[in-house]
Amino acid sequence: MKKRIGIFGSTGSIGTQALEVIAENPDRFEVEILTAYSNENLLIQQAKKFNPNAVVIVNEAKYPVVKEALAGTDVKVFAGEKALEEVATFDTYDMMLAAIVGFAGLKSTLKAVEAGKVIALANKETLVVAGDIVMQKAVEKRVPIIPVDSEHSAIFQCLVGETRNKIEKVILTASGGPFLGKKPNFLVNVKKEHALQHPNWNMGAKISVDSATLMNKGLEMIEAKWLFNLNPDQIQVVVHPQSIIHSMVQFEDGSIKAQMGLPDMKLPIQYALAFPQRIPNKFPRYDLSRAASLHFEQPDIKTFRNLALAVEALKRGGNMPCIMNAANEIAVYGFLRNRIGFLDMTELVERAMDKIKHIAQPTLEEYFESDAEARNFAASLINL
Ligand code: NAD
Ligand code: MG
Repeated sequence: MKKRIGIFGSTGSIGTQALEVIAENPDRFEVEILTAYSNENLLIQQAKKFNPNAVVIVNEAKYPVVKEALAGTDVKVFAGEKALEEVATFDTYDMMLAAIVGFAGLKSTLKAVEAGKVIALANKETLVVAGDIVMQKAVEKRVPIIPVDSEHSAIFQCLVGETRNKIEKVILTASGGPFLGKKPNFLVNVKKEHALQHPNWNMGAKISVDSATLMNKGLEMIEAKWLFNLNPDQIQVVVHPQSIIHSMVQFEDGSIKAQMGLPDMKLPIQYALAFPQRIPNKFPRYDLSRAASLHFEQPDIKTFRNLALAVEALKRGGNMPCIMNAANEIAVYGFLRNRIGFLDMTELVERAMDKIKHIAQPTLEEYFESDAEARNFAASLINL
């Protein structure tokens, strides 16, 4: 039996790499759903190649083009945000690869959990915003959530065979991003062209900026809390510029397990798609006989204050991570359009976290409201 995969966000960095993995393993996987925000040409090309049951183009203005291009096929074409949620419940697929970027991925992922789909989760913002609700639903529906984020995949892999053993702490590795070692007097002049150049990973624009500001690591701390049921003080971040150790787990006996490999997202993507199996591939291998020097240092949270803000959000809990995430999405949007500077992003997030009311145990509706409120507030500060 082939695993039937729905790729939500198929035109992005994760989505396209997942399709490469699937194309290499046609006997194991079948693509049943593809979705894109507005890259109609790539979506059409993907649909022609993988012949899914359905595609969604979220930007409705692009619907006629996609519909027409796929007229001679039996691919069903849908458009709009609501369609994402509807398609997520289709019984034509088994596993959702949640690869939409940002808060926009939350609703369809929740629908898929409710429909009992296995989730391969790349969209970390889903857990940052509403981790309690998503995880509780997953438990209720007995839905496995398999992380795709490389750090969380590493931790997940370290935990295989350890179900009865307590985690003392997890150690998330951070590359440090393109500005490792830089100080505010340098960062104040940084432009998006620099921020988008990550030394080790080639990723979508939003996560590349998040990696440069260290917000990505902050989001990942919150993601780890929900995935592995951890307290804030069980989550440590260490800078490891080589990105060979993807993260570690320390157990109660002090033993530390690490998962290693070259930085290539296709590995955690393949692991999540094929779980619980490991399947062969021809990806380049990390060769210890060549560059075997691994370095670790403490993150500079005085310079990269986003990490400190994320720890605060993690500790305060409730809707605070949701507020932080929403303001950060606006901040990154503003930075990518040259509306604000690199350091202004942190400022914006901090102001939103100060301004929007803290709710200790929000409902799903309250998460949506907090998201909208924080977005509007942040956008008003930079005249978006
Ligand atoms: P990307 O920007 O390259 O792709 C995003 C995808 O989501 C595209 O297919 C786009 O069409 C779709 N999309 C964007 N906005 C949308 C909206 N409003 N509604 C519906 N669809 C929308 O992003 P990416 O780098 O592939 O990242 C995807 C997710 O995976 C993010 O949450 C990111 O944090 C996470 N992630 C990415 C990497 C990586 O290496 N790229 C690594 C770890 C985790
Ligand atoms: Mg990561």
